Amino acid sequence: MQMPAKKLGLGFMRLPLTDANNQKAIDMPQVEQMVDKFLQRGFTYCDTAWMYHDFMSEEAVGKAVVDRYPRNTFTIATKMPDMMLRSKEQVPGIFAKQKEKLHVDYFDYYLVHDMNSVNYEKAKKFGVLPFLRGKRESGEIKCLGFSFHDSADVLDKILTENPYFEFVQLQINYLDWESEGIQSHKCYDVAVKHGLPVVVMEPVKGGTLANPPQQVQDLLKKAHPDWSPAEWAIRFAATLDHVMVVLSGMSNMEQLEENTGFMQNFEPLSPADWDLLLKAAEMIRSGIAVPCTGCRYCVEASKCPQNILIPNYFALFNTRKLMQRRDFSPEIEYYENYLDQGYGKASACIACHACERVCPQHIHISEWMPKVAENLEKGQTF
Ligand code: SF4
Ligand code: SF4
Repeated sequence: MQMPAKKLGLGFMRLPLTDANNQKAIDMPQVEQMVDKFLQRGFTYCDTAWMYHDFMSEEAVGKAVVDRYPRNTFTIATKMPDMMLRSKEQVPGIFAKQKEKLHVDYFDYYLVHDMNSVNYEKAKKFGVLPFLRGKRESGEIKCLGFSFHDSADVLDKILTENPYFEFVQLQINYLDWESEGIQSHKCYDVAVKHGLPVVVMEPVKGGTLANPPQQVQDLLKKAHPDWSPAEWAIRFAATLDHVMVVLSGMSNMEQLEENTGFMQNFEPLSPADWDLLLKAAEMIRSGIAVPCTGCRYCVEASKCPQNILIPNYFALFNTRKLMQRRDFSPEIEYYENYLDQGYGKASACIACHACERVCPQHIHISEWMPKVAENLEKGQTF
């Protein structure tokens, strides 16, 4: 399998716009300049998807990259929009249209987009997996993988049942690394167990880690005065041995200059710097709503009659509070995945207090559950 020469990928999902309210209004001259700098500095991995930029991202890649550079100087990754499929018949049409939009006759990397327990069933139902395996055999796909948002157990199941996948794309950043909700570390370990390289998405957690609390910024600044918080976050993900590329959805030339600057001759973080980021993650978490440590006593040492996945819901709730999310966000998607797997809703809590009797943090779980429900089930802040 072809590994990118450098560990930074250009995500075509937050491109500069000429009209901030119109995702289709991509600032192509600026994108072309960004692509020029990216490729000049020896980077190759360009990531897009069917629905990015209101379905215009793939065309932007076709114009800014494929039309302007020899095919062997860059690699293209795009994705089958599993979550949008309504029938088996759509699959070949979308694949053909993607080749047309991108002006390519093969994809270097092709992913099933947003695999989770529900979309996995959909991929099977609509014949997505055999279709893509056929394209892999015909050479229209050079490497086949999937992007993933679910628990480590689900990842393990999918990879065990489908050993032909060649890479996975995971959400990894220093704040989610030990999170019970997102399970970055556990998912990474599953990928390593299956011998797969990892593409990292959300290394800066949607921009949150570009602007962490002041005390965290002070801590990081002291260790490396010339590194920005976003740089720390990208370095964290790139330090992992089995990570082949870290995606960054760069939105302007300044970000591209910064990221390609420090990633050009990338050196992994020292153990001391790695530990500092884990400490920073603890500091960020200490400022968040529910002091749940994810010990899982409430799941394993007691039995919730409503089958509520308490620590995972708290992790998602805390992240939404931290990020001041008001609308739909990935955390709600994760929450809905858990419900689809048969776990109880936070709103189903009957305040029996069984979980509270075993919680070492003495968290009043039954008092928090209505707030968790309000946030994750109605998408409201608090
Ligand atoms: S208090 Fe709520 S969350 Fe805790 S065990 Fe009882 S029903 Fe489950
Ligand atoms: S027992 Fe308490 S601290 Fe441990 S996972 Fe459950 S709620 Fe969190």
